[in-house]
Amino acid sequence: MAQSFDVVVIGGGPGGYIAAIRAAQLGFTTACVDDWSRADGKPAPGGTCTNVGCIPSKALLQSSEHYEHAGHSFAAHGIDVKGLSIDVARMLARKEKVVAQNNDGILYLFKKNKVTFFHGMGAFAGKDGDAWKISVTGPGAAEITGRHVIVATGSRPRALPGVAIDNERVLDNAGALAITDVPAKLGVVGAGVIGLEMGSVWRRLGSEVTVLEALPAFLGAADEAVAKEALKVFTKQGLAIRMGVKIGKVTVTAKAVTVDYADATGAAQSATFDRLIVSIGRLPHTAGLGADTVGLKLDERGFVAVDAECRTNLANVWAIGDVVRGPMLAHKAEEEGVAVAERIAGQHGHVDFNTVPWVIYTSPEIAWVGQTEQQLKAAGVAYRAGSFPFAANGRARALGDTTGFVKMLADAKTDRILGVHIIGPMASELIAEAAVAMEFGAASEDLARICHAHPSLSEATKEAALAVDKRTLNL
Ligand SMILES: Cc1cc2nc3c(=O)[nH]c(=O)nc-3n(C[C@H](O)[C@H](O)[C@H](O)COP(=O)(O)OP(=O)(O)OC[C@H]3O[C@@H](n4cnc5c(N)ncnc54)[C@H](O)[C@@H]3O)c2cc1C
Repeated sequence: MAQSFDVVVIGGGPGGYIAAIRAAQLGFTTACVDDWSRADGKPAPGGTCTNVGCIPSKALLQSSEHYEHAGHSFAAHGIDVKGLSIDVARMLARKEKVVAQNNDGILYLFKKNKVTFFHGMGAFAGKDGDAWKISVTGPGAAEITGRHVIVATGSRPRALPGVAIDNERVLDNAGALAITDVPAKLGVVGAGVIGLEMGSVWRRLGSEVTVLEALPAFLGAADEAVAKEALKVFTKQGLAIRMGVKIGKVTVTAKAVTVDYADATGAAQSATFDRLIVSIGRLPHTAGLGADTVGLKLDERGFVAVDAECRTNLANVWAIGDVVRGPMLAHKAEEEGVAVAERIAGQHGHVDFNTVPWVIYTSPEIAWVGQTEQQLKAAGVAYRAGSFPFAANGRARALGDTTGFVKMLADAKTDRILGVHIIGPMASELIAEAAVAMEFGAASEDLARICHAHPSLSEATKEAALAVDKRTLNL
């Protein structure tokens, strides 16, 4: 007989596992089904984020940043390093350990919260009265039912048309995180978050990196001032970034990948790389879900169609995270997971897309929340802008990392903060203050009047708030 649950979550990524924990906290009998396996076949919950996304990429970014600092920054501190070398195998082993710690952490959280975990593929198999039947196939095969089902099946990498990902020469995100030696020449197609982060890792370790991007504008989603600064800094660091290219023929041999492309002027170019990372976006993952079996509606791009509250076209079936519209970010998936569990419990779960922070973990880091200056201009909103450079911040000088700035945009009449854009050290951490301020509807003056610890990078945020009113104290 099928095991019945109040809530069945299909997918154990950040959206799914968080939704399951929150549902269990709210008193529902809850199951989570996830198919990801470790090399030894054991379960590896955590999805793309934990296994081949956020966590391993940050582990490699950290390792490569240490290497770069040891090679280039330590000397200024009076620390001489002789015979510096990188053991890629050890770096990858450390990354794997960090991933495994996160996988195990999620399994522990399931136990702690009494979430029943099924290791395998979950597929809709019809209805049993009011409940949905879900068939689990794989190591944890079972027939289960859920009064409510939350689809959190995530996304998969998009390939270049006609160019197979072999994860040997042509790599997706999983392959990019598992390169076993430093490629002399590395090509990256796509100058988005993943391409820039992965390109940075291998550039720091010694690769000559060329990034090929189809769009004409660099980091088009970011504030223009930030994107301009980022392009300048990344180029100076040695990333060769080619915008407005049109990829042509890609030839893969046993040892190399040759990419023919037209550059922004239309001139024919060709480049040969040891490896090529393809990071041109991600597609919703619904294969094997049994959407057709029950008539779960997908939109024209293959995402599960949902309303503003993550309801699908089927009663008591919800969908969250990368498999639905909106930014493909782990924390957006998590917030939707919490909100849906609370809605199932009759509460008023809420996600404010305007205060979802964006982060790119390059060096310098880039982070923003709210509107960009170009969005405000396009919408005809009257605003005031204030910026403060890290070059004038004492903590940044002490760190030896003075690149970038904090920029704040506030409504010209009400002074309410409309957007905060940071490029610089620890931008990923600094952006949290801006998100909190915006959630509380703060004015720039509110932030300017709050006591910030000295010396700290966060003083640059306070100074940017002061700059909105043209009264910086340290510039
Ligand atoms: C290289 C890289 C770096 C990234 N870095 C960041 C970052 O720094 N910050 C950030 O916010 N985001 C980052 N992301 C994006 C982030 O990983 C995703 O937004 C996030 O993982 C989405 O969570 P999710 O729960 O919707 O889906 P996923 O994490 O994709 O999880 C879905 C899970 O469901 C499983 N599944 C699918 N179908 C079924 C089925 N039928 N039955 C059972 N299981 C199924 C999948 O195998 C997977 O385990 C990064 C992505 C990549 C690729």
